[in-house]
Amino acid sequence: MFNFSFHNPTRIIFGREQMTQLSNLVKPFQKVLLIYGGGSIKNNGVYQQVTAALTESSFIEFSGVEPNPSFETLMRAADIVRREKIDFILAVGGGSVIDGAKFVAAAALFNGDAWDILAKGAKITEAVPLGCVLTLPATGTESNGNSVVTRYETQEKLAFSSPLVYPQFAILDPTVTYSLPPKQAANGVVDAFVHVMEQYLTYPVNAPVQDRFAEGLLLTLIEEGPKVIADPENYEVRANVMWAATMALNGLIGQGVPQDWATHMIGHEITALYGLDHAQTLAIVLPALMQQQRQQKRAKLLQYGQRVWQLQHQDEERLIDEAISHTRHFFERMGVPTRLTDYGLNAEVVDKLVEKLVQHKMVKLGEHGDITPEVSRSILQQAL
Ligand code: NAP
Ligand code: FE
Repeated sequence: MFNFSFHNPTRIIFGREQMTQLSNLVKPFQKVLLIYGGGSIKNNGVYQQVTAALTESSFIEFSGVEPNPSFETLMRAADIVRREKIDFILAVGGGSVIDGAKFVAAAALFNGDAWDILAKGAKITEAVPLGCVLTLPATGTESNGNSVVTRYETQEKLAFSSPLVYPQFAILDPTVTYSLPPKQAANGVVDAFVHVMEQYLTYPVNAPVQDRFAEGLLLTLIEEGPKVIADPENYEVRANVMWAATMALNGLIGQGVPQDWATHMIGHEITALYGLDHAQTLAIVLPALMQQQRQQKRAKLLQYGQRVWQLQHQDEERLIDEAISHTRHFFERMGVPTRLTDYGLNAEVVDKLVEKLVQHKMVKLGEHGDITPEVSRSILQQAL
């Protein structure tokens, strides 16, 4: 196992009726910005619960953060934070709203052009404190320091990370996820699954404890994921999926092990250029990447096939083939198609996507840094 230093400062408040805790959590602050998306929280009653808990606080609202939150919209929120002397941001929504709030928290106090935080990796030295109410289990953003923002003008989707933007708290009430459209619930399961895979399916480093955490999360998502669609108001199913998605990307399983993230980086370019949902891009790229990298990932692919899919063939090549096809079929069973052509994209898109990867210096991806633009091209061709 590699050396590591691990600190996750986010307080998780999990369970039914936990929204009532909000009033105490925001009490120390003078002026709160309540930030949310396109209105799902008004339809499912979450907005009403949140505002009821904020009656003793001074707050203003900012709505309209889009799925794949835009730089353009978020900069308007950052202006409000500065103008109104906001000292706490409360994000209520899915990954897009929470990622967006993190960028607003950093951009509002940034000296210079805030786009540099994303495009040039400019270091942030302060951020407005934030907390969140999560409504869509998927990204893990509720207890990590990552944020992904899209600039519509230039069709770029870029990420930044900072310990300064971990939410101070995250309220996770599984009942608020009952209202998710099946497509979004399925997207969440796929995103969480791929987060685990990108920290697990690399090469062995004698870290069986990390492998077992990862395999436990993968098995949970495989077993519970389909039930979310079949039985949407089953509290225990929703609770297990919600906690699994948080654990998939809160830092724990990634400590001491190599990490990949090529699937996410290639996927971001597909969303930026063609507007596919985040999880759809991952369902397209991961099976093709597993195929392309089967030599480099051989030992872990065999372990994954045996332990997660209970495959027992003597023939190792066949075992790996089946591990890949089980992964693809799992995504498809969740209702997320796994080919570029399923979304109306054909061979013409490959060059454009590779060009964008080069523009964003995504030229040495993967746990070995060997996913060059040519390898990405081959992955995308196999994903057609
Ligand atoms: P999302 O984009 O936040 O939300 C998708 C849709 O679901 C929105 O239309 C939203 O509606 C709706 N929705 C959310 N909660 C709902 C509920 N309880 N009931 C009904 N509808 C609901 O989806 P996401 O998958 O959570 O986030 C995707 C973003 O996160 C992408 O930009 C991706 O790149 C990023 N991401 C971040 C990380 C990270 O570590 N930070 C990791 C992976 C992905 P409203 O807008 O009306 O609320
Ligand atoms: Fe993701």
